[in-house]
Amino acid sequence: MEQPTTFQDLKLNTPLYNALDDLGFVQPTPIQEQAFNIVASGKDVVGIAQTGTGKTFAYMLPVLRNLKFSKQDNPRVLVLVPTRELVVQVEEEIEKLAKYINVRVLGVYGGVNINTQKQAVAQGLDIVVATPGRLYDLAVSRVLQLKSIQKLIIDEVDVMLDLGFRHQLINIFDILPERRQNIMFSATMTEDVDDLINDFFIAPQRVSIAVSGTPLENIAQTKYAVPNFYTKLNLLKHLLQESETYNRVLVFVAYKKMADRLFDALEAYFPNETCVIHSNKTQNYRLRSIEQFQDGEHRILVATDVMARGLDINDISHVINFDTPNFPENYMHRIGRTGRAEREGNALLFYTDNEMESMQKIEELMQMTIPKLPIPDNVIISTELLEEERPQIKERNNPLKRKDDDEVGPAFHEKKEKNQKENLGGSYKFKIAKKYKKPKTRGDKNYNKRNKRK
Ligand code: AMP
Repeated sequence: MEQPTTFQDLKLNTPLYNALDDLGFVQPTPIQEQAFNIVASGKDVVGIAQTGTGKTFAYMLPVLRNLKFSKQDNPRVLVLVPTRELVVQVEEEIEKLAKYINVRVLGVYGGVNINTQKQAVAQGLDIVVATPGRLYDLAVSRVLQLKSIQKLIIDEVDVMLDLGFRHQLINIFDILPERRQNIMFSATMTEDVDDLINDFFIAPQRVSIAVSGTPLENIAQTKYAVPNFYTKLNLLKHLLQESETYNRVLVFVAYKKMADRLFDALEAYFPNETCVIHSNKTQNYRLRSIEQFQDGEHRILVATDVMARGLDINDISHVINFDTPNFPENYMHRIGRTGRAEREGNALLFYTDNEMESMQKIEELMQMTIPKLPIPDNVIISTELLEEERPQIKERNNPLKRKDDDEVGPAFHEKKEKNQKENLGGSYKFKIAKKYKKPKTRGDKNYNKRNKRK
């Protein structure tokens, strides 16, 4: 049998061994074991690991082992995290690990006086842990110089992007030295994370603790083939009527707009029984929703994947996958919310034709076929379609085009309208063209522009 990896196998150094001894840690966690050599190699890395797996040390152990003592004032390692709480937590973790190393660590975040932080920066530092906004402000003010950054670590990338930090991240990338190592950690794989990796990373090495494809035995799974959103809604309403059975239900949706849409529809039908959380809701709103659900005041919680991750709610009777997740691992995370602590749990999956492929990926990962149930007779099959369900020309695999589930960019609309106008033609355009021999109307100008581009 293979011997378990020890910290000795990772070839650390005495100060790190001493710190680990003080902490009482005897064995690296799986993500620490897997990430160490890759992070130490200097290559770009994408790690998929949830909080609680030891991911902070997974990137800090190799970084600290390789960080040489330096008297220079500008930081060499930048750790970006989405919230101030995480800044504090990560800073503390680094301090513990660097107990016997002469390294200066500073945490900075927004919402507090920037001048105090400027003074702290001016003292000189090696590692800066920051939220993106405040980091950028400090860099623009020129107090914090980023020209010596060798390693950029972005932690909880999924939350970061869900909170809308993509632009801020890109602004920061722009002012960092090009030659640097990028290390990124995310709890879940999302479309946004995938896009960011493809746009800014060069052939990153991936490290992940394989999500078990073995569903817990005490979760009963079923699936329904449903043609569209409104039929999914009818089916959901039908099921939720059984309030004794469906007494604590977590409904997962793919994105924020869908969460709001579903919440509004359910709230109208089951008033004061439904709550919702996603990252556009304020912290207070989210906390209230979670409390209401936890206390049993409301029995239905609609949530997005990223936001539901931090929830620790027991006794969930049903997890309903209103949307089929694109990444099968997310399905495993979702259904793991029910059937905890020896209780029977239930997981339901609704999938449309468009989601068939994702459903099959889930079944492949689990190596099982989820039993399928027919839509009950009294559920009305709707033919009404949402805007996004209507047939449209989609450039699905264009790597240059960013897809944002929550809004369709204005450029997309503009172009469509313009093209439509041109297609309508109109005799006036041709009359003018004939008279002046060169384009005079706005429509014709565009025509020329378009031809030039070709
Ligand atoms: P993280 O996933 O980084 O938030 O870490 C979760 C918790 O596990 C933190 O309190 C760490 O201090 C702790 N931890 C990290 N590595 C180890 C380890 N090898 N053995 C035991 N605990 C650890």
